[in-house]
Amino acid sequence: MSLFAHVEMAPRDPILGLNEQFAADPRPNKVNLGVGVYYDDEGKLPLLRCVQAAEQRLMEKPAPRGYLPIDGLAAYDSAVKALVFGADSAVVRDGRVATVQALGGTGGLKIGADFLKKLLPQAKVLISDPSWENHRALFTNAGFPVETYTYYDAARRGVDVDGMLASLRAAPAGTIVVLHACCHNPTGYDLTPAQWDAVVAVVRERGLIPFLDMAYQGFGFGIAEDGAAVGKFVAAGLDVFVATSFSKSFSLYGERVGALSVVCASKDEADRVLSQLKIVVRTNYSNPPTHGAAVVATVLNTPELRTQWEQELGEMRTRIKAMRQRLVDGLKAAGVQQDMSFITQQLGMFSYSGLSKDQMVRLRTEFGVYGTDTGRMCVAALNSRNIDHVCQAIAAVLR
Ligand code: PMP
Repeated sequence: MSLFAHVEMAPRDPILGLNEQFAADPRPNKVNLGVGVYYDDEGKLPLLRCVQAAEQRLMEKPAPRGYLPIDGLAAYDSAVKALVFGADSAVVRDGRVATVQALGGTGGLKIGADFLKKLLPQAKVLISDPSWENHRALFTNAGFPVETYTYYDAARRGVDVDGMLASLRAAPAGTIVVLHACCHNPTGYDLTPAQWDAVVAVVRERGLIPFLDMAYQGFGFGIAEDGAAVGKFVAAGLDVFVATSFSKSFSLYGERVGALSVVCASKDEADRVLSQLKIVVRTNYSNPPTHGAAVVATVLNTPELRTQWEQELGEMRTRIKAMRQRLVDGLKAAGVQQDMSFITQQLGMFSYSGLSKDQMVRLRTEFGVYGTDTGRMCVAALNSRNIDHVCQAIAAVLR
């Protein structure tokens, strides 16, 4: 009998499944709001000007492609630290942060998860309810039991902070808590600064381990504002894990550029932690790829390119906000009676629309508007050409 005779077919990734269905849909006015990708107003994936300029500079002095160090390009790692913790951060200056280049934000999460499993084999992981689906799968695959903390309040359209704090208070010391640093995926609802303070206090009191996932820095209010939660954990003197992704903020999805940073109590601790993170990398894929990190490091470390990046990131953020507003206005104009203004209060690429699974299925089958069954829509895929059709379609299923 064949070795693989009993291998079961794994369930399809729901979003990729949706993409396949979308690709096969012959309707010319179909719209894919299922993805987690930013498109420009032409409906195209942008290639940022700062990225092109960095690539041009790199091409002017073509470099051979030797192996990078296990922890990645040094100029990249230091740029990540400055971005995540601030250019004049004391923890960075004191050498208390261990940073490794990773294969996207997902890679950063996975290196952290594997390291934590060795450090705390009995711990459990808490993710938000709901969360990015891969959080559960990734930490489960790393060997952790994964449970949820209260997060989304559907009735009040926002975060159930009291419920969240109660969940955290009930967690045993040493529980790993995965938090979305900004632009919560899928709901679009973030904590306010004061609510973050309350979360930080409970995490500290209860001896929990904060693991911040920062996949959308710059898509909420701005680079510094969106990174503020990290600063609060650091200021409270906590050991914190931060996974960084540049997939969205640099529109470098396929280059797999991300990082993991771990804040430690001393330089000596950080050196030892870094040595362990390097073992995780070494035994999984040896060392990271060169190109994406070289591009991001060039942009972040070259003042005029950095300025250009901030401008382009700002353009993406502003366009998304404009689309949220047009969606709210368009729904009203299309006769929707409910107050849909909550869409403009949400942050980042997604809107949790509050539509039911049946309504989402109708959007897809009757109108060719594709979102996930949970009601999540990618507002970053709306543009001036498809917005009217989307408004008409949503209005029809809400009627
Ligand atoms: N975390 C969250 C919350 C995300 O939404 C995503 C991407 N969709 C990631 C991590 C992973 O990002 P990357 O593509 O850089 O691995």
